[in-house]
Amino acid sequence: MTLTVGVLGLQGDIEEHVSSLEAACSNLGVEGDVILVKSVDDAKRVHALVIPGGESTVMGGLSSIKGLMPALRDRVGHGLPTLGTCAGMILLAKGSRDRVVGETRQALIGTLNITVERNSFGRQRESFETTLELGLPGGDGFHGVFIRAPQVRSVGDGVKELARLDDAVVAVQQGRTIATAFHPELSGSTLVHEHLISLATGKAAAT
Ligand code: GLN
Repeated sequence: MTLTVGVLGLQGDIEEHVSSLEAACSNLGVEGDVILVKSVDDAKRVHALVIPGGESTVMGGLSSIKGLMPALRDRVGHGLPTLGTCAGMILLAKGSRDRVVGETRQALIGTLNITVERNSFGRQRESFETTLELGLPGGDGFHGVFIRAPQVRSVGDGVKELARLDDAVVAVQQGRTIATAFHPELSGSTLVHEHLISLATGKAAAT
């Protein structure tokens, strides 16, 4: 069976995720077709989904305008293997606020039982790279790329922490949803994307 893997294709670092997913499928020997998700029909037919980094207010706004939000909530909420990175983590969260401007009432998918603080490490010039202990097989010494990244501020029931940076939670898993404050698609490693594919093929367990 060919696995159809989607990248929400509205805004952000879409192509980097397409490349990482193609490499992850090839490394795992899985036949994968990577598509951009831009419509409800696209959202209905994928076996796994990536929500990229970018600008969460823009992606949330475009998803609402295109009528995609209910389909995304339905699929992700019913266990579609999903990876959200940076702005993607924010979109998955049930609540968000910005470190500087506070409440923005942005549109969220809201299926992941965490709240996040946006731009939590500062603005673009405070972006950084560091080494993380990521709680996935082979995840020790993972290269974390943080670009205007959020931090997880509260972790609710059913959510497992996958990584911390000092005291800040920066990666989580809930069921078949994985979310990272950093950008695995820029890390030079396909480990996180391989985990997503393994959740879709049943080779990795949901938490
Ligand atoms: N700061 C952006 C937001 O709040 C996220 C940045 C990113 O995805 N690299 O949506």
